[in-house]
Order: sequence, then structure tokens, then C-alpha cells
Amino acid sequence: MKALVYGGPGKKAWTEVPDPQLLEPTDAIVRIDTTTICGTDLHILKGDVPAVENGRILGHEGVGTVTEVGSAVTGLAAGDRVIISCIKSCGQCPNCKTGLYSHCLGSEGASGIGWIFGHLINGTQAEYVRVPYAANSLYKLPEGVSDEQAVMLSDILPTGFEIGVQYGRVKPGDTVAVIGAGPVGLAVVATAGLYGAAAVVAVDLDENRLERAREFGATHTVASSAADWKDQVLAVTDGAGVDVAVEAVGIPETFQMAVDLVRPGGNVANVGVHGRPVELHLEDLWIQNINISMGLVNANTTPMLLRLVEQQKIAAEMFATHHFTLDNILEAYDTFGRAAETKALKVVITRE
Ligand code: NAD
Ligand code: ZN
Repeated sequence: MKALVYGGPGKKAWTEVPDPQLLEPTDAIVRIDTTTICGTDLHILKGDVPAVENGRILGHEGVGTVTEVGSAVTGLAAGDRVIISCIKSCGQCPNCKTGLYSHCLGSEGASGIGWIFGHLINGTQAEYVRVPYAANSLYKLPEGVSDEQAVMLSDILPTGFEIGVQYGRVKPGDTVAVIGAGPVGLAVVATAGLYGAAAVVAVDLDENRLERAREFGATHTVASSAADWKDQVLAVTDGAGVDVAVEAVGIPETFQMAVDLVRPGGNVANVGVHGRPVELHLEDLWIQNINISMGLVNANTTPMLLRLVEQQKIAAEMFATHHFTLDNILEAYDTFGRAAETKALKVVITRE
């Protein structure tokens, strides 16, 4: 088969590799029908994730058709259309049993981490992929949900909802600020209403992304390049501060912005993946009674989010901005890598 293979920092190739095989009775093989690219893939290509070895097939998001299942896989058969979750979960270990799939103790890839596709084992930017713990890591797709919608449920929608909205404890009537309106921040915007957020303020440097945030349901947008960006956000709450501030960028500056916006007793939910240390001013924060949360997505809300997509309560297809076929994946990377110019959110890459 052909796959996108990582060759060390700055190097990738769409090239011939051996077909994946079932290795464990709990595995399935899935033919990739649709995949996409994540900002994390760009981080890997910069060399920021040293655990990714040369020769690794990239990608952790995908929708496909099961072609083969191991003898221990229940509930799935060849021909089933499935979402491949970005998080593998054995479903049996103590962490999986509490819903903490992000820390699945199943020995595949590495014990204690749920994100292994395109990281510790071969990923989804390929014609076929081997999926460990298939019964718990794949989600069957109903007829009415398109591949393009479903691929947004591999990673971005569960991430925004779980780590932004749920960890941020959004509740009815809240004002929520979302710093960073990339695909993940927009997934927060798109799902904050599920817990009754009254106002959602999107903050970004990029005017195009702020425009998109409005389409996803933001009630207010603020350009963080404006000198008075903070006053503009606080004005939405009559100066009190927002109930929930979500950081969806992953740099120290934006974490500080989130802390600066939250009201006493409010919640700061950090979603961004940070590559540099971030200063935490406990000397100021302790007396504000602020909660700070963070985490790797569990993707255990995927079935619930899938039902909402099916019922057209979440417009997952709105994230798709560009379309490519697998053999044009390098072009897809180029478009996604220049998002500020190309206005790309999610590039949808299909088999044909
Ligand atoms: P992205 O790079 O597409 O979006 C980031 C956005 O932040 C961009 O729109 C950019 O214009 C904006 N931005 C940059 N600097 C800013 C500033 N100073 N002020 C305001 N806005 C600014 O990224 P994404 O794909 O949406 O992902 C967002 C973050 O979520 C990343 O750090 C990613 O690694 C992380 N992530 C976390 C998890 C998890 O499990 N916690 C899962 C997936 C992704
Ligand atoms: Zn991702």
C-alpha cells in the first residue's frame, strides 16, 4: 500500500510500504476512506515530538471501512464504516473503566498513553491502518453521517468538547472566552452551547478565523492584536470577567490571556499543547479561587457527539475547507501548513 512516511524533521514521503497485518486477536484492519491533517502532525514534522521514529506512518484521524477483524473483536465485521478514534482504548484497564482513555494501560504502543496512532504506531495517513483494541477504539457510523462529518469526530470535536467545555465546567448562562479559533478552538465554540453557554467570545489574531467563529456560533469576536483586546472581552461581562476562559493555542502568552480574562471563582481550561514552560502566578491567583484544568482528550464522548452530528445539532461539515485525494496528500500538507494564506481549517483527504 501507499502511506505518508515520516523521515525525520522536515522530511515526509508518500511512498510504498508493506500492508498492515493483524498482530493481535483484538486488532482490526481498516481501509482508509477519509483522513485529515492535525496541527500536531506539523509539530511532529518540525521534530517537536521526538518519540516519533523515522519510518513512522503519520496521522491519527480517519474514517474507513473494516476489511479484517481479529478473532477476539466483538461488534465489528468486514464492511462496517467506522470512525477511527485518535485515542486507542483497551476498555478493560482501570483507567479505561473510568473513561480516562487518554491513559489506557493496554500495552499496545506504550502503556499509559492513549494517543499512539502516527506517534508510537503507524497512523491513518495511508491506504490501510491496523487498529489495536478495535472493539473499543472504532465507532460504527450510521448511514446519515458523511465521512467528511465523521472525520471531525476522530479528534477535534471531542478535544474541544471534553478538554475545553467539560473540563472548563461550562454551565447554563455562562460567558465563555475561547483564545485561539483554529479547528480545536472552533470545536469549543461549536459545543459550548451544549451546556448552555449564553455568550461565547472568540479571540484570535486572524480576522478570517474570527469570521469563521461567528459562523460556528460565537456571539462576540475580539482581535487579539487590538491594544484594548482585554477590555473588549471584559466589556461583554460588564467588567466582571468571563466564567470560563479556554486556551486553544498552546503558547505562554495565550495561557496568560486566559488567566487575565477569568472572573474570581471561574475556570481556565487549557487545551493547547505547550512546547515551552508556562509561568503560573499562584501568588496572584490563589486569592481569586480560580480552577485550572488541562488534559489529553479521552474521546469517550465520541458516541454522544456522533448522535448530535447525526441529528444535525453539530454542523461538523463546516470544518472542512479543502479537499484532496490521498495521492495528493503532500499538496494537502502544503495547503494546511499555510492556513493563514489559504484559509484552511481542516483539509479532507479521500481515497478517490
Ligand atoms: P491552530 O494552530 O490551527 O490554531 C491556533 C489558533 O490560535 C490560530 O487560529 C492562531 O491564529 C491563533 N493564535 C495564535 N497566536 C495567538 C494569539 N497570541 N492570540 C490569539 N490567537 C492566537 O491549532 P488547532 O489545531 O486549533 O489546535 C489548538 C491547540 O490544541 C494546539 O496547541 C494543539 O496542539 C492542541 N490540541 C490539544 C489536544 C488535547 O488533547 N489537549 C488535542 C488536539 C489538539
Ligand atoms: Zn489531533
